[in-house]
Amino acid sequence: MTSSMVVPVIDVQYDNFKELWPAMVVAIKTSSFVALDTELSGLGNRKSLLAESIEDRYKAICHAARSRSILSLGVACYKKLSDKTADTYLVQVYNLTLLCSEEYIIEPQSVQFLVQHGFDFNKQYAHGIPYCKGNNKAASDDRGVHIRALFTELLRARKPLVLHNGLIDMAFLYQCFYAHLPERLATFTADLSEMFPAGIYDTKYVTEFEIRLAASYLEYAYKKCKLDNSRSVASGGSGPHVHVEFCQYAGHMSSYVDYRVCPSLASVEEQTDICLRFSAFGWCPNGTQCLLSHNTDLIILQDEKSKEDKRKKRKRQRNKKKSEGELMEDSSIVDGSPKNKVAHMEVDPDKTPDNQQGAELCHKNTQQNEGDSMGADSEGNRNSATSTATEDTNKNTNTNDGVEKSDHAANTGSEKKADAGTHRAGFDAFMTGFIFAYSCTHLRKEGAGEAVEEKEQEEDGQLWLPNCLNKVYLSGKAAPLNVVKSTFSKSSKAHIQKMEMVWGGRV
Ligand SMILES: [Zn+2]
Repeated sequence: MTSSMVVPVIDVQYDNFKELWPAMVVAIKTSSFVALDTELSGLGNRKSLLAESIEDRYKAICHAARSRSILSLGVACYKKLSDKTADTYLVQVYNLTLLCSEEYIIEPQSVQFLVQHGFDFNKQYAHGIPYCKGNNKAASDDRGVHIRALFTELLRARKPLVLHNGLIDMAFLYQCFYAHLPERLATFTADLSEMFPAGIYDTKYVTEFEIRLAASYLEYAYKKCKLDNSRSVASGGSGPHVHVEFCQYAGHMSSYVDYRVCPSLASVEEQTDICLRFSAFGWCPNGTQCLLSHNTDLIILQDEKSKEDKRKKRKRQRNKKKSEGELMEDSSIVDGSPKNKVAHMEVDPDKTPDNQQGAELCHKNTQQNEGDSMGADSEGNRNSATSTATEDTNKNTNTNDGVEKSDHAANTGSEKKADAGTHRAGFDAFMTGFIFAYSCTHLRKEGAGEAVEEKEQEEDGQLWLPNCLNKVYLSGKAAPLNVVKSTFSKSSKAHIQKMEMVWGGRV
């Protein structure tokens, strides 16, 4: 039914950062959009992060971003290939291991979670790329080879930025690699709108409010999009679908690549009942101890089944009404999203007073995301891939339609199941980008009439998903945060200085 996929993730650390720098900058500059994800040393008080007032939430996020740090950064560069009939992307995924040089808090629960998911603290301390937070310490911070300069390159590239549930990520990115966070939320959004003129997209907002999936946590959204995409491909390609291709890394480069296997949706053999909490939020307080199933594949299939059951039931009811000579109801409700789960208002902190981890914050590192059943990368795969390639970054055509046919796919079953968390930020960024790419294709096909016009806009680097432009998901709120510069808000002083340095005389 679906195909498995092997995603190469390039492992960037202190030792090879300089060597990989040119390739990373080119990948960013030539991309159509860039998806990011972060792993954090903590989030602080979970309840304040979900405060009723958005301004209060922002204060809590600022406090967290100033006192905690980014441990790793995932960067997925998606380049749309214009010479293909279907929407085809060349994807390059980087996982950067970082080490904040200043004091920061690391929360015990984060350590526990990260270790459980394969985060290697030895590697972080020995090989992490050092960085300082806040405002530039010297004018040179925007040049040379370091992480703040890479962030500057990202800004200069003026690409659409894609995140999943991205408010916290953006605040941490701003504080860690850009400048001291402004005190007010309106200033922050004003700064962001200038930093990313091509727009910010949040795939959690996209999947919940536009695609209207039954759940929108990262792994669920990714697997559901991938499943529907594979079905479109399998049915002869008439439905909306995207193709992803990867570079084939060889020679010296290949030693930095880990292959993350993302198997096709497992034929579900489990007889266990699904954990409803996990099913809705991608998180459950019982974690690994839970007796119910946290299998995302199983959850997706069950959601599809219940949606189908409801559809049939409605159809029966309509037919019954019809035969009774009544007017048919508006048929649009039939295609409505399966709101059998708690949607839009996923987190109600009042209902979960003892719940330190807001379920909404799930894809952040401090949560017990047990759904990581997506297989693993494995050290052993490195060699098998090396032997087949001849150039450092030759485009690999064997991943067309997501079916991985190259030899390293074959031996993954027998390899040890390595820790899937090792390149978590990189792979999460890949998943985020995939959801976005699929959503663009899917939603454009839905409104086929406007396709041509949108295509042109897209090529200008504008308006990928017009309805989602600059809308950032807010947990428990029906409306997103709009990343705009309002007539009443000013940019921050630090940001204005940065703008001078980033673009001044260099455009
Ligand atoms: Zn559970």
